[in-house]
Amino acid sequence: MVAQVIDGKAFAARVRAQVADQVARLKEENGIIPGLAVVLVGEDPASQVYVRSKGKQTVEVGMNSYEHKLDADTSEEDLLTLIDKLNKDPAVHGILVQLPLPKHLNEDLVINSIDPAKDVDGFHISNVGLLGTGQKSMVPCTPLGCLMMLRDYHGSLSGMNAVVIGRSNIVGKPMAQLLLGDSCTVTIAHSRTKDLPDVVRRADIVVAAVGRLEMVPGDWIKEGATVIDVGINRIERDGKNKLVGDVDYASAVERAGAITPVPGGVGPMTIACLLANTLTACCRANGLPEPEGLTA
Ligand code: NDP
Repeated sequence: MVAQVIDGKAFAARVRAQVADQVARLKEENGIIPGLAVVLVGEDPASQVYVRSKGKQTVEVGMNSYEHKLDADTSEEDLLTLIDKLNKDPAVHGILVQLPLPKHLNEDLVINSIDPAKDVDGFHISNVGLLGTGQKSMVPCTPLGCLMMLRDYHGSLSGMNAVVIGRSNIVGKPMAQLLLGDSCTVTIAHSRTKDLPDVVRRADIVVAAVGRLEMVPGDWIKEGATVIDVGINRIERDGKNKLVGDVDYASAVERAGAITPVPGGVGPMTIACLLANTLTACCRANGLPEPEGLTA
């Protein structure tokens, strides 16, 4: 069996088009323009690239983008003051603080100072609790993107065996909650899991979110399973810099029923879902119906 490739780039373009369409309607019918504020502290090169890309795509879908670039030695007090200002600003519907923060800043404190209704990354402890109890929340962007692709491919996920490899707060745990919410039977695997190959072989859905180069070989994959590769590993191969996933694509594509490539799979969906979350936050803030198909 050769897997169907789930094209995350094309899917993300469709999500952005849907967001742009609804943003245009909001403007025309309600005179509202959704706004996303992104806060970057310091000069981490990868973070700078992400923030630039987020700002560009925000503007492309017709939203307002507010970028706040702070020096690496910004005090916690100054950062919290800025977040408080953004929390109170009615033109700002979503706030994202780019992680990681410089070491002297308490990440938990900073994230939990964001108004949960504007927490478009879904990392605020209130949103984590709401998701865990099956209530309406802001959902972390990467797992939301994975869920959208899985729903699109399968329709219903009910009753499927899903394995999430990785238990981080930003990917693994919320991914497992979302799959549980869609009535999968969910296993969360991690570095202490015994006989990981056996656990993976039983899964109809495998989500790999580890950050270890090609650690899941094709012979771990059940024939016909759906494989979502979240991992991003930067390597040099054949004299070129490349991005490679946590799954050995060449062997997995021969066994899976469907698979996301790296790059061009989960990656593009993350920013698309950030825009979707900002639109959702804006609709909720204004008491308007939520955009269909863009939430969990
Ligand atoms: P973390 O480092 O926070 O978590 C990694 C998880 O993998 C941990 O739970 C760890 O287990 C588990 N793990 C480590 N080694 C093994 C092993 N040998 N077997 C099984 N599990 C193992 O990473 P993130 O969740 O933040 O990110 C995971 C990957 O996803 C990274 O490559 C990251 O770059 C990528 N990513 C991609 C995004 C995208 O937009 N496409 C967005 C976010 C992340 P334990 O808890 O026991 O240590």
